[in-house]
Amino acid sequence: MQHFPIFLAVAGRRIVLSGGGDAAMAKLRLLMKTQAHLTVIAAQIAPEIHRWAAQGKLRIITRAMEPGDALCAALFYAANENATEDARAAAIAHAEGALVNIVDNLADSQFITPAIVDRDPVTIAIGTEGAAPVLARAIKADLEARLPTSLGVLARIGKTFRHAVDVLPMGRKRRDFWSEFYFNTGPKALENDGESGVQKALEILLDTHTTATHTAGHVDLVGAGPGDPELLTLKARNALDKADVVIHDRLVTPEILELARREAIIIDAGKEGFGTAMAQSDIDALIVEHARNGAYVVRLKAGDPTVFGRLDEEIAAIEAAGLTYRIIPGITAASAAVANIGQSLTKRNRNSAVRLITGHDTKGYADHDWKALAQPGEVAAIYMGKKSARFIQGRLLMHGANPATPVTIIENVSRADQRVIATTLVEMEPTMSRANLTGPAITFYGLAPRHAQQAARQTPLTQPLEATS
Ligand code: SAH
Repeated sequence: MQHFPIFLAVAGRRIVLSGGGDAAMAKLRLLMKTQAHLTVIAAQIAPEIHRWAAQGKLRIITRAMEPGDALCAALFYAANENATEDARAAAIAHAEGALVNIVDNLADSQFITPAIVDRDPVTIAIGTEGAAPVLARAIKADLEARLPTSLGVLARIGKTFRHAVDVLPMGRKRRDFWSEFYFNTGPKALENDGESGVQKALEILLDTHTTATHTAGHVDLVGAGPGDPELLTLKARNALDKADVVIHDRLVTPEILELARREAIIIDAGKEGFGTAMAQSDIDALIVEHARNGAYVVRLKAGDPTVFGRLDEEIAAIEAAGLTYRIIPGITAASAAVANIGQSLTKRNRNSAVRLITGHDTKGYADHDWKALAQPGEVAAIYMGKKSARFIQGRLLMHGANPATPVTIIENVSRADQRVIATTLVEMEPTMSRANLTGPAITFYGLAPRHAQQAARQTPLTQPLEATS
């Protein structure tokens, strides 16, 4: 981020603009929405600007900018549509301590003016650091269409009422009150009875909320998918949007956590393979404790919560506490991984069943029906299979699996650093240890990438594996 967005307090402060033509007028139309004292300085000033001056909206000085003109100004705009005059005027303003913007000159500007959606006091600023003004305009148009013009009125009335709402406890209770106001009661009252109706509605609503009994919390057990935020379901996104508390596991990516509300409490309950950072019973207790306090808890799990996620233990704890819950499925690592190697999990005449197996469970390496898996055409997606690679390989070979059976390891599925490593059963363990897998990895037994080139393209390390660390 080269430009940090802020909202500057300009009421009662000076904003000076040098220029009197079209560029000046465009900026002034925006600036006149503020409560700043505007001064326009230029040798030639368009009649429209004179009219604004006559209406008391700004002050005019009809000459070129001189030293002293920008004293005490918070902001200065150079809008002369003349690079030499802009530079000269900007230098004066800069020396006098104003923040300087030169119209259409990003490099010499200290700040830029964003595209603005105005639902005062709700103001949305959109900036692309000068990279894509078209995009900014498109986003602006989109938001303009989506946000009712009444939003500003409701926010203005709502603001005067904020103090009264202090009687409600902070957090969920207050948020529930305001969301009901902005999205339900407020718009209805405004439409039916105008602004006075809104005031009355606020009072009634507050009364209802203060007398309401304690609301019990709720838990959503949510699948976060393999890592790419675009692979989240809409339900998962909405849950993150509203959660008071997010308890996530180690594999949930920062990009996904970023989608939680800024005020949400985010708790990392990450568990490392074999050794545990937080015992499952502690996680269960944590979920229950927050929900009991009335919080909306999102238990966020990588992939799908129903796949190797110890979901049932959490549900048992939630049910025992008499709380409500909902499961929101996610895209499991196996689904995202096969998609990326262009394969199906099942295929007619190849495999009519696919096994999701884990390399280890709480007791250590996990045992499976190796004899059945060793048959030709079998496919298994092996989760948590890094440490157990040698064990799995040995068991399969021992039970007669073909050493040339394709094996594909996909690390960091759906993330920027995804790697696909195509190998065979007999080479599986050495390949994996050479690959130095640091991220989560899923191993497909019985599947090769659809196109050898695809693997080569995605695997910078098919050649010297040691080269990547
Ligand atoms: N519930 C998860 C699985 C949790 S078990 C799911 O449905 O995907 C943890 C294992 O999942 C990891 O050891 C790894 O084998 C696999 N895994 C999870 N996310 C992954 C990713 N982005 N890339 C590769 N493997 C992943």
